[in-house]
Amino acid sequence: MVDLKAAVRAIPDFPKPGIVFRDVTTLMGDPLAFSETIDLLCDAYKAHEIDQIAGIEARGFVFGAALAHRLGIGFVPVRKKGKLPGDTYSQTYDLEYGQDTLEMHKDALSQGQRVLMIDDLLATGGTALAALDLVEKAGGKVVGAAFVVDLPELGGRKKLEARGLDVLTLIEFE
Ligand code: 5GP
Repeated sequence: MVDLKAAVRAIPDFPKPGIVFRDVTTLMGDPLAFSETIDLLCDAYKAHEIDQIAGIEARGFVFGAALAHRLGIGFVPVRKKGKLPGDTYSQTYDLEYGQDTLEMHKDALSQGQRVLMIDDLLATGGTALAALDLVEKAGGKVVGAAFVVDLPELGGRKKLEARGLDVLTLIEFE
């Protein structure tokens, strides 16, 4: 069993003083850790009859696309404002300071498709809740949300579960 936690690097004072950033690029760059991560996600969801993965920009694309390929299903990008070329749904959400906006192509999903959301890390849950709103606007049914890393002290899991979401996280940092 690969130690996934050890494969995530801590970068102090990024993006600002006092924050310890959990850097998953080291896990992605480690072939055993990356492969173990995708294996765990695949085992967790292969029986869930998922139609599409919705991956959240940018690190959610890496894990989400690899998992979609393994499950033999499609991948839908949830992107930052202004990046997608077609007609989009838009969802603005609060950050610690200010706001951000995520978008998804209006025609990315068929009505009722079963969607799994993927991102690298769950903190306050604001990003994932915005993505949930987008998938639902586009007609999808979110059957779960998976994250490689959870920061439980920030309360994201509770917020997502309060919206009825089934949440999977692989490792956590206090
Ligand atoms: P939330 O919306 O749950 O507060 O924040 C999660 C989002 O911010 C995710 O898209 C995640 O990529 C990013 N994020 C916040 N903090 C970290 C961190 O320490 N490491 C990484 N890799 N991403 C973070």
